[in-house]
Amino acid sequence: MYKISNYNHFQPWQEDYFVAFNALSGAVALMTGENYSRYLAISEKLSVSNHNNFSDEDNALLEQLKFGKFVLPANGDETASLKFAHNLHRYDQTTLGLTIAPTLNCNLGCKYCYEENKPGRMNSDTIDAIMKRIGERADALNRVDINWYGGEPLLALGIIEELTNKLLDMAKEKNFRYSSSMISNGYLLSKDNVHRLRELKVSILQVTLDGPKRIHDTRRPLKNGNGSFDRILENIKYASDYIGIGVRVNVDRNFSEEIIKELLDELVRAGLQKKIGVYFGQLEPASSVCANIADHCYNANEFSQAEVKYYRLLLDNGFHVQKLPSPISVYCMAQGIGAHLIDPDGDLYRCYNHVGIKEKSCGNIADDFDFQHPIFREYFDFDPFTDESCRTCEILPICMGGCPSRRIDRGLKGEERCETWKHNLDSMLDIIAISRRREQLQKEQDAELAREKL
Ligand code: SF4
Ligand code: SF4
Repeated sequence: MYKISNYNHFQPWQEDYFVAFNALSGAVALMTGENYSRYLAISEKLSVSNHNNFSDEDNALLEQLKFGKFVLPANGDETASLKFAHNLHRYDQTTLGLTIAPTLNCNLGCKYCYEENKPGRMNSDTIDAIMKRIGERADALNRVDINWYGGEPLLALGIIEELTNKLLDMAKEKNFRYSSSMISNGYLLSKDNVHRLRELKVSILQVTLDGPKRIHDTRRPLKNGNGSFDRILENIKYASDYIGIGVRVNVDRNFSEEIIKELLDELVRAGLQKKIGVYFGQLEPASSVCANIADHCYNANEFSQAEVKYYRLLLDNGFHVQKLPSPISVYCMAQGIGAHLIDPDGDLYRCYNHVGIKEKSCGNIADDFDFQHPIFREYFDFDPFTDESCRTCEILPICMGGCPSRRIDRGLKGEERCETWKHNLDSMLDIIAISRRREQLQKEQDAELAREKL
């Protein structure tokens, strides 16, 4: 017999439809009103033990519900299987996820940057120490995922090249998969560098545009005060033909729909509508370095509501919405023993916000990983299954307790520490359903056109 999942969400959608979403499987489907009524009737029947009076139509729907994990075997325990996956990920030694900052130097002078700009680059001793540490584990590894970070990593492309070539050789010899991505401000993403990055297997690049040109240029100027927008946009135009580009737009209370619309118009004029993913980041006062921006920052609920407005604007302007409520087993690298952030000196951190802040380091790559280091434990130890509000939360599979830094560094409590889905899932499901529907219609139209041409 079967029972209903604890993680189902049904959201009325347009006329006589419902968006059905299961947070554990990530399944999203459109359901007719008639099928939703049938689902409610099935739920009722399943709640009565030994009930097996299902019509053919009930059974047909039940099969689909089983497929999307909206129903599960009556003896199944979703929370236990989620906890199992969570622990498996936490202690997984077969995947190594390294975020490497080959330099903390940067060519921009962003007002809100939490990294104190430091000169200096990773030296050959640190490169050797990284390779040694990976080499010691290589026989047990299935995968190594590198995220190049900084400072601005393109200021240290030679180091990235050296490390990548060594890692690719090791991957071949030890038979593990290798992938890499990069977080860059995009200013140095010249045509040459795009092709170098392709050769270095960088497949995804995150670039930040903080609003339209007139705002971005005041928030993310070059060190000499000149604007950076035009060149970054030109670079993205070229790069997006070769590398997956995600454009992050950091927003705070100074933003409005008019401002976002202005940026989207600029992206449309650049022909980027269908070529990049755009998503919104919440500016947060992550450390004392950026306490000066705290007054402008949204709180969690404000950001969640603003995000909905901005994603609707994306839709209205012909962009796809790529943010999806996908199931995760841990929230971020802070909660896995196979994930580390390494600064140019080889010092290790649990969080992007801490890079270069030496008192937040939990060791050095030249020494063996110390999983008992107090800083390591502070960020690693949080377990959402020991927190009553998380354990019983209907969106636990897509949040897993949220960002550890918010709890520890900012001391946030209650729903302030929750993922935005907690505040805006219904509205976002509405937007995601429209976006998916459009994509599907577009595919059908393209297929039709292709048939006509034959
Ligand atoms: S702790 Fe929070 S801010 Fe730090 S890496 Fe994880 S999600 Fe990001
Ligand atoms: S942090 Fe909030 S949204 Fe996330 S699992 Fe816990 S209670 Fe749910």
